[in-house]
Amino acid sequence: MAINLKALEVWFVTGSQHLYGPETLKKVAEHSQEITTFFDSNSKIPVKIVFKPVMKSPDEITNLCIDANAARNCIGLITWCHTFSPSKMWINGLKTLQKPLLHLHTQYNRDLPWGEIDMDFMNLNQAAHGDREHGFIMTRMRITRKVVVGYWKDEEVIERIGTWTRAAAGWYDFQKAKIARFGDNMREVAVTEGDKVEAQIKFGLSVNSYGVGDIVKVINEVADADIDKLVKEYAELYQIADAGKPGATFHQNVRYQARIELGIRQFLEAGEFSGFTTTFEDLHGLSQLPGLASQRLMASGYGFGAEGDWKHAAMVRALKVMGTGLKGGCSFMEDYTYHLNPNGMKVLGAHMLEICPTIGEGKAKLEVHPLGIGGKDAPARLVFNVPTGPAINASLIDMGNRFRMIVNSVDCVLPDADMPKLPVARALWVPQPDLKVGAAAWIYAGGAHHTAFSQALNAEYIEDFSEMAGIEYVHIGKETCITDFKKELRWNEMYYALAKGF
Ligand code: MN
Repeated sequence: MAINLKALEVWFVTGSQHLYGPETLKKVAEHSQEITTFFDSNSKIPVKIVFKPVMKSPDEITNLCIDANAARNCIGLITWCHTFSPSKMWINGLKTLQKPLLHLHTQYNRDLPWGEIDMDFMNLNQAAHGDREHGFIMTRMRITRKVVVGYWKDEEVIERIGTWTRAAAGWYDFQKAKIARFGDNMREVAVTEGDKVEAQIKFGLSVNSYGVGDIVKVINEVADADIDKLVKEYAELYQIADAGKPGATFHQNVRYQARIELGIRQFLEAGEFSGFTTTFEDLHGLSQLPGLASQRLMASGYGFGAEGDWKHAAMVRALKVMGTGLKGGCSFMEDYTYHLNPNGMKVLGAHMLEICPTIGEGKAKLEVHPLGIGGKDAPARLVFNVPTGPAINASLIDMGNRFRMIVNSVDCVLPDADMPKLPVARALWVPQPDLKVGAAAWIYAGGAHHTAFSQALNAEYIEDFSEMAGIEYVHIGKETCITDFKKELRWNEMYYALAKGF
């Protein structure tokens, strides 16, 4: 599932009008082109930024919006009004626009030319009022967009535009994402379920189930020679425990995970899937739960959710797209167990097996251990730690009348001591603002025990993504106070009940 962000385009659109005459409009176009080139060549903005001719009339704007909707690789628009662009000209276009929009509130000249300023300068550099007219019509039309303010060469401005373009790439991918669900949901579990029809209506995302027999057939047909090759790759990449080496007790178990990996990969490629789910309650015909196999498929860009969790499989994929090329990985994750010592409360995140090695530090160990549940053979898995630093946990839940996105900003920390007997990959973090408030807010919000975890992204990416998707977003961070957070949840109930009428 290779991801090429440079194949995606964001159009840079400058609003103006005929009033100013050709001389000024020529300058506006030159300046816009210069800004476009600057953004396009900046490594913090990973997609292609494409210059569009300056907009001067209602028809030009309407046609541009129709073209943007139809352009397959266009993932969004950046708009800016260097001069004044009367907003009634924008109504018909904005009414049709289906792509995300970022309103850049900048000015070509950073500084006022104090000694030189005259009316020519004033007539050209009008964003301070032109962009307010532009903002009014979008607010009046209830259009969700991101507003970024500041000089266009300012590092923070560039970073925020970069964040938004990555969120737009994630949203673009999400709308055509296909998740294969092998088996159904873990029996009786509520939060991993949800309305798949509504998800497709809201997100474009499609989720369909396949009998485990469908992959078992492919897995059983994998050629031994291909397994030999893959196991050689494992030996280069990972530190294989003695029991998993050729001739040792568990070597066949490692080979069997290689067989699963090759089989599932072939199935996902053939069906152009972007992610998958498994469930340990439905492994008929498989002799191990896919462990190492799921870990490695995640590492190559596939979304994954355990126990049938299709929403988090989709989220893992979306976060992988957004984080492409950034430092830090992304994984399916679960809040597993706690350290409640008052000297430093923290969460130990892990899963039965399926944590993505892109979040790991150093060379992962490849080990084979029996699983306590499921009644299958001992599965091979990668075991590793996660580096310290900021991270996010993002959870998407179905509230019945809407989807809610919950993000907790967390800080990954070192373990207080080694955990030599723990046979799974693990991350250790302190939720913001602290474990007690963070976990209480999460539970009030109904956040799942499963999340998409990333050290490459911060909460702003998910906020942008949620707004593009038109869903509720709540963030638990340094400023979170439980009393206010509960109010926010209650007010949101009202807003989303009413918003359907807007
Ligand atoms: Mn789980």
